[in-house]
Amino acid sequence: MFDQLKQEYSTCTKCPTLCQSRSQVVFGSGNPKAEVLFIGEAPGANEDQQGIPFCGMSGQVLNELLNSVGLSREDIFITNTILCRPENNRNPAKEEVENCRERLDRLIEIMQPKVIVTIGNFATERILGKKGITSLRGKVFEVEGKKIVPVIHPANYLYSGRNPEMFAQMKSDFEVIAEMIKKEKKSSKAKPLGHPDGVKQKKLGEF
Ligand code: URA
Repeated sequence: MFDQLKQEYSTCTKCPTLCQSRSQVVFGSGNPKAEVLFIGEAPGANEDQQGIPFCGMSGQVLNELLNSVGLSREDIFITNTILCRPENNRNPAKEEVENCRERLDRLIEIMQPKVIVTIGNFATERILGKKGITSLRGKVFEVEGKKIVPVIHPANYLYSGRNPEMFAQMKSDFEVIAEMIKKEKKSSKAKPLGHPDGVKQKKLGEF
């Protein structure tokens, strides 16, 4: 199912501008069977060339944060809110996020991640329907039985001139993520199938 989705979107033409300007569709990378899904904003120039999300400077920061809590790119799957690079690194347009909605919903449906990490404002708004990464970062939300943790986008940290205070906040948010993963692993072992968790849950994007 995962391969079919990837194949289907490799030639997507839903966004008239992006499908012309992109070098390739950047579907995602890492472990598609992972219990943790990271969602960024959109591929940048490096990602568009190499076909791998977060393979440039932001990716180096992301790797450092993952490593700081004992995780690697092989422990997670990573994709973006939209699959194709917006020209000149502009923000994704509303309709582009909408055009990529079904693809991200289907990916989540197939992967069934226990934890979703939304990187920056675009991914956070897409998944939680809430704005304002500064106040949402590092908090844990629950949507459809999945834990959602918004984090600051590494690009913000780079734009800040590598503000050490911001980096400390990002590190502490990654500790929250690591803790969440540990808890989810334990609770999935402890609970019998059909455990009635999730009664008060909302739908993705409707939080
Ligand atoms: N920034 C993103 O949001 N995604 C990438 O893949 C790279 C940089």
